[in-house]
Order: sequence, then structure tokens, then C-alpha cells
Amino acid sequence: MPTTELNTDVALGVAIPSRNARGRIARLGAVLDSVLTSHEYPAVLETLLAEALTLTALLGSLLKEPQGQLTIQAQTKGGLIDLMVCDYLGGELRGYVRHDADKLAGMSAEPTLQELFGNGYLAITFDQPAAQERYQGIVPLEGKNLAEAAQSYFAQSEQIPSLVRLAAQKRGGHWSAGGLLLQHLPEGEEGRERLHTRLDHPDWPHVAILGGSLKPEELTDANLPLDDLLWRLFHEEDELRTLAAIRLSRGCRCDPDYVRSVIARFPADERAGMVGDDGMIRVDCAFCSSSFAIEPKELT
Ligand SMILES: [Zn+2]
Repeated sequence: MPTTELNTDVALGVAIPSRNARGRIARLGAVLDSVLTSHEYPAVLETLLAEALTLTALLGSLLKEPQGQLTIQAQTKGGLIDLMVCDYLGGELRGYVRHDADKLAGMSAEPTLQELFGNGYLAITFDQPAAQERYQGIVPLEGKNLAEAAQSYFAQSEQIPSLVRLAAQKRGGHWSAGGLLLQHLPEGEEGRERLHTRLDHPDWPHVAILGGSLKPEELTDANLPLDDLLWRLFHEEDELRTLAAIRLSRGCRCDPDYVRSVIARFPADERAGMVGDDGMIRVDCAFCSSSFAIEPKELT
């Protein structure tokens, strides 16, 4: 396996100052193996969740606060999936999908967003507790794929010209996924703090064409370091800057003591109703599939 620091489970900031373009590039490998192994989803959902987690890494790495949290949540109606949640906190990623197994049989190999989510919406929430800043944007889950839906999010919700590319592939039993986010942000402006928007700026189509030439197999090639990949795309620009890399890992914040304290707050008769055949109360974490067994007498 490649060992350089910029090959996998990492997000890297990028700026092309002369074009007023900035963004992130990310690749996930072992992190995805770890998340997806714990869920055992059908292949089509594994690919979707791999792309969703990559998108989560791209957006989460935009947060300025170390304790900032990014959540993407799909709310759906009438599709294969009824819920998908991914989040990011300090480089840690987690996510899960809830689906209707009966609908899986009629699904094509590369289902559209409509097949997957029905009439779905994607809610993206940036939460920066130190600045007491919480912002949520919601866009319909329309378009060919998750990358297109994310691109519409930036166009509609934030009015920033953006390019989003996502790709995920399983090879030899291991996952690799990559993503690129590029945005046109005039100098000195960050994200939604910008002062004005110029959708017609000539620099942007140039950057979007170069970024758009990226192939899925380049995004998922774990032998190709992310800085080399950026250089391949943008070496003719006056200046290409990369920012400090952010390591990505799988993380869940479920906590047995917390679970116990929540269950303890239920009235005794309701707790009695939760006891299973083995005499224990079982609580599962949807994110990481951990199962907590609590002895009812511990709670009294
Ligand atoms: Zn968990």
C-alpha cells in the first residue's frame, strides 16, 4: 500500500490565487473499509455511503473551528432509502443509511438519485460552536448523482459557483473514494462571508473546465498523492497553493455511560418494556453498529 501522507484518509486545502479559486481535495481508504464493514450494506448503498462520506470530508474540512461539526442528512420520501446521515468532527467521520430492503430487488446497478431517495432533500449543516454560528441549507436531491446535488447546494443555497466531483470504487476487497470541491471566491472572502457574487467571472469557467477534466479513476487511485493530482490539473496556473493536510479517521461519539443515563431517565414501566429475551436492554448505535447491553438492575 502507498505510504506517503497525501495518498489516503486525508483532506487537503487548495487555492489558485490568480483565478480566485479555492477548495478541497480528499481521499478515503481504510476509513471507508472500517465504516462500511460494520454496516454490511448492499453494494449500491456502500458506493453511495462512500461518496457521501467523501463529500462530508470535503465540506467538514472547510470548518475553521477544531470543534466545528458538519452534518449532511438526506430526508426522503418513496425511495429505496429513508434516511442517510453522515457527520464530521475534528477529522472524524461516521455515517449510516436506513433503507427498505424490499425495494432493492427492482433497483438498477447504477440507480438515479430519484430511485435512491424518491422525493428527497439534502440538508447540510455547518455548526461552529465557539462562534455560535449554525447554518443549514437544504436542496432537493436532484441530478445524476450526489456530486451534482452538492453542486446545486452551493449554487442555490450559498450562491457560490462551485464544482464537485466524487468517485468511489471497491478493488480487491478494499474501498477507495476521492472528491474534489472547487469554488470561485473573490480574494479576501471566505465561504458565505463573501460580500458579493459574480457568477459570470471569466476565471471561473477556466478553473471549472480544468477541475472537471478529472477522471473518477484518478480520484480513487490511492497510488496518486493528492498534491500530484492537483499539479496534474493546474500546473499551468501562475501559482498553486496547498494548505496543511487534515488527517481523516473513523470516529463515533456513542458512549455507553451516556446511553445508560438516557435509558435511566425513562419511567420504570417503560424500561421494563425494553428488556429483551436475554434479560438485558439492548441499544444499538446506528452510526457504528455498536450494541450496548444494559442490565436493568444497573439503572435502579
Ligand atoms: Zn457509535
